[in-house]
Amino acid sequence: MEDNYKHKGLRKKLAEIVKNKGILNSAVLEAIETVPRHLFFSDSAFAYIHAYDDKAFPIGSGQTISQPYTVALQTELLELNSGEKVLEIGTGSGYQTAVLACFGVKIYSIERVKTLYDKTRVLMAKLKIQAKLFYGDGYLGLPTFAPFDKIIATAGAPSIPPALLQQLKIGGIMVIPVGEGSEQIMKRIIKKSENEYVTEEHGVCRFVPMLEKRVEEK
Ligand code: SAH
Repeated sequence: MEDNYKHKGLRKKLAEIVKNKGILNSAVLEAIETVPRHLFFSDSAFAYIHAYDDKAFPIGSGQTISQPYTVALQTELLELNSGEKVLEIGTGSGYQTAVLACFGVKIYSIERVKTLYDKTRVLMAKLKIQAKLFYGDGYLGLPTFAPFDKIIATAGAPSIPPALLQQLKIGGIMVIPVGEGSEQIMKRIIKKSENEYVTEEHGVCRFVPMLEKRVEEK
């Protein structure tokens, strides 16, 4: 669990790369510079070489740790304010979760693969990252804890899950990659009233698919 000057230097460079790709929000860049991404990989020898490349990588169970630029883009689009309730679909390695935690928000994160959920829960406790983690199906959201100020999905959904729209507060923002196949469109949905939404598109992205029903192992 070491985080040394070399990692810090690489993170500074990574934040610079992300900035050059168009992320302007200084709090988001600071979060990229703060979160020790190398600790979110299961293979530490691999992490030593690649953790600060601006790329997505395998994390086991057929899943990936998101690309830092994409994490920064989704975080920027959420327009987070301290104290807000944020629902995340697809905990995965917990890297995006850790970036959200830099904003002092209350995080509820769902993962459908039990082995990943178990592994990431241990890591978050070790790193003292405050987030409530759930093993479940993100398509259903978390009705018990709704409504949420912000919702972020880090897996590509074929269409926007109705339960998530319902669990978004009026005035709330959802950021979700939408599309079937390997490429999706990054969508930002702003809930204007109980049944009025404004949808924006923020470019093409590549995520693993959002799948229904929780599983023990993939
Ligand atoms: N933000 C994560 C990305 C992980 S990849 C990271 O940076 O590590 C997307 C994750 O979404 C995978 O772990 C996958 O298992 C999970 N996932 C896919 N469909 C889901 C669903 N319906 N509910 C919850 N998690 C889901």
